[in-house]
Amino acid sequence: MTRNDQLFHRALQTAPGGVHSPVRAFHGVGGTPVFMASASGPTITDVSGRPYIDFCLSFGPLILGHRDPAVWRAAQAALEDGWSYGTCEPYSLALAEWIIACVPWVERLRFVSSGTEAVMSALRVARAATGRSAVLKFEGCYHGHADPLLVKAGSGLAGDVASSSAGVSNDAIAHTVVAPLDDEAAFDAIVDRTGPDLVEGVPANFGLLPPRREWLHHIAARTRAAGALFVLDEVITGFRVARDGAAAHYGLTPDLVCYGKVMGGGFPAAAYGGRADLMNLVAPAGPVYQAGTLSANPVGMRAGLATLEEMTARDGWSTLERRTSHFTDALRSRFDAAGLPVDVVTLSSIFWMRRRTNGDVRRIDRIPAGQAAWFARLFHEALARGVYLPPSPYEVCFLSLAHDADTLARAADALVDAAVHAERP
Ligand code: PMP
Repeated sequence: MTRNDQLFHRALQTAPGGVHSPVRAFHGVGGTPVFMASASGPTITDVSGRPYIDFCLSFGPLILGHRDPAVWRAAQAALEDGWSYGTCEPYSLALAEWIIACVPWVERLRFVSSGTEAVMSALRVARAATGRSAVLKFEGCYHGHADPLLVKAGSGLAGDVASSSAGVSNDAIAHTVVAPLDDEAAFDAIVDRTGPDLVEGVPANFGLLPPRREWLHHIAARTRAAGALFVLDEVITGFRVARDGAAAHYGLTPDLVCYGKVMGGGFPAAAYGGRADLMNLVAPAGPVYQAGTLSANPVGMRAGLATLEEMTARDGWSTLERRTSHFTDALRSRFDAAGLPVDVVTLSSIFWMRRRTNGDVRRIDRIPAGQAAWFARLFHEALARGVYLPPSPYEVCFLSLAHDADTLARAADALVDAAVHAERP
């Protein structure tokens, strides 16, 4: 038994499926999860000392790469000063002011510890503001694991939903309505009967499904016309696809917005925010209760601010976008040259490799059927060549500023070779 197998065997005796979050288990790709012991820059290293170029990056937060020196210094300063007060402190204030100065539609915000909490709380505010109990979400979008959002569409639209998880009662999802992505007519048919409308800035939890700008504007406008609120989930996209997120990228002004991942610099920090009149409904200013023992934890607050300041100082977003398009263009042309039916979908510093199909894929029922089996092969071929992809056919890959030209050239060689081998089942 390898050391890795021994660790996983022990993990199975301690945690369900041996993991503390499901995608970490290799159910989407098969095999035994790799135990990682350390990381630096673009590289993550397993317990036997083997390095991998990391495109998972903790599922998105590490936009500067692992153990970035500026973030490290900020976290260390927090450890020296004290790591939890449960009082007012200047650190969350500094991050809040930075975000409010950067994002015009965030007039007030509240820090929480996870994206799940951010979305759950934003919807509570939206319901309190509109008096509507329903929420409309889109098929294939993931918004954390709050009960009302663990819903997938059935074969139709409203009224035909089923829970995606045991333990989520029909009562809990009774007010959740699911609409397909990228379909104005289906949306129009149900919007008047629903409440707040919740959408990922760029759907990126069922592969990367870059939305049409007109569709996003359509749903935002129709939502407001129906007297509901437009809630944008920027947990992945916030401070990632642009300094001011997908909302700015698409020219949207959400009523409420949810952040996580990048804004905590790799520590547990998230936020929800929006118009002052809506956010002032939150306790103690207003009647919507929401609280948290470790909310605005100073380590996450200082690491998050250091991340955002460093990205700004290094012109990080445009550099990342340039590097990502250079890298994915190279991949695309080399896949083509090798006759591989693989598309590389990109938005800013996010990319997703999928089986080729005709036309754009903007909704989950257009994802080619062979994606899951092919990606499982690609994943293991890449792993064997020292590249760590997110272990699921439907999770997206991320770049960080630590992914320099040399790293990306080596990654491209490995991925092209892996893809050639993945064609031979
Ligand atoms: N919203 C989106 C768009 C997400 O991608 C995620 C997590 N991947 C969440 C919410 C939930 O965030 P967390 O895992 O921090 O609870």
